[in-house]
Amino acid sequence: MARIFLSLLFLTLPVFAQKKSVFLITDAEGVGGVCRQDQTEPKDTEMRQLLTGEINAAVEGFLAGGADEVVVWDGHDGSQTLSTLTIHPKAKLLMGAVGTSMLMERHWSAVAYVGQHSKANVKGGIMAHSYSSLGIQVMKLNGKPVGEIDMIAAMAGQFGTPVIFLSGDKAAAEELHEIVPQAETAIVKEGLGRYTCISLSAPAARELIKEGARKSMALIGTVKPYQVQGPATLEIEFTTRNTIGPDTELRTGAEVIDSQTVRYKGKDVLEVWQRYRAK
Ligand SMILES: [Zn+2]
Repeated sequence: MARIFLSLLFLTLPVFAQKKSVFLITDAEGVGGVCRQDQTEPKDTEMRQLLTGEINAAVEGFLAGGADEVVVWDGHDGSQTLSTLTIHPKAKLLMGAVGTSMLMERHWSAVAYVGQHSKANVKGGIMAHSYSSLGIQVMKLNGKPVGEIDMIAAMAGQFGTPVIFLSGDKAAAEELHEIVPQAETAIVKEGLGRYTCISLSAPAARELIKEGARKSMALIGTVKPYQVQGPATLEIEFTTRNTIGPDTELRTGAEVIDSQTVRYKGKDVLEVWQRYRAK
């Protein structure tokens, strides 16, 4: 009996002892005060300040809510926007590409987004796109149009990690709530069109983000990971500027549907994403 009790204790101990890590994925198009394409240039000084301010507010909130570690991924355009000189002193900065698993094999306690935009073709989505506004018209996972929000959440879910927080425009917040209704969101701007928005001031956006991030920490352990079960198909419809390459059909799991569309099949979300992203 004592042995059973002891082994039960050891089984449950790691759960209590586990440090709380947050993987914070960042982008530019969903940042408050960013409403024009030229502002999304990685070297744009104002955008860098706005984005860094929002990220640091989120980090502050996560720490206040009990996070032990926050790893910030510079996810916008080739990872050249953020700097360790200006990132929150207690955060760590991940620079570079994260690969096809999006680094979810690290089994973070939670995943969050700052500066997130909605998927392509969403009314009121400011600079809405699915991974590439120049290259991709529509991306569908198991028949459902998706963008970065769904794909990241599904990849996190594949490794048992939940999404707890998003800041971005109103369309992005609604998109996350469709798949994770309990997630905390901070809406920093509302889109009236692709390049027209009503935005909070930077201080107001930061305040809202800090509070939302703090509250979201309480979701760890209660909110379910977003899991897309079973075999997966990923359909990519390209824009007219970016048609299918001559070798596409030869790639594992790929099937060319028409001049603009290719469909990948895999045993799960991870495999289908690996097949699509394989170079
Ligand atoms: Zn993006």
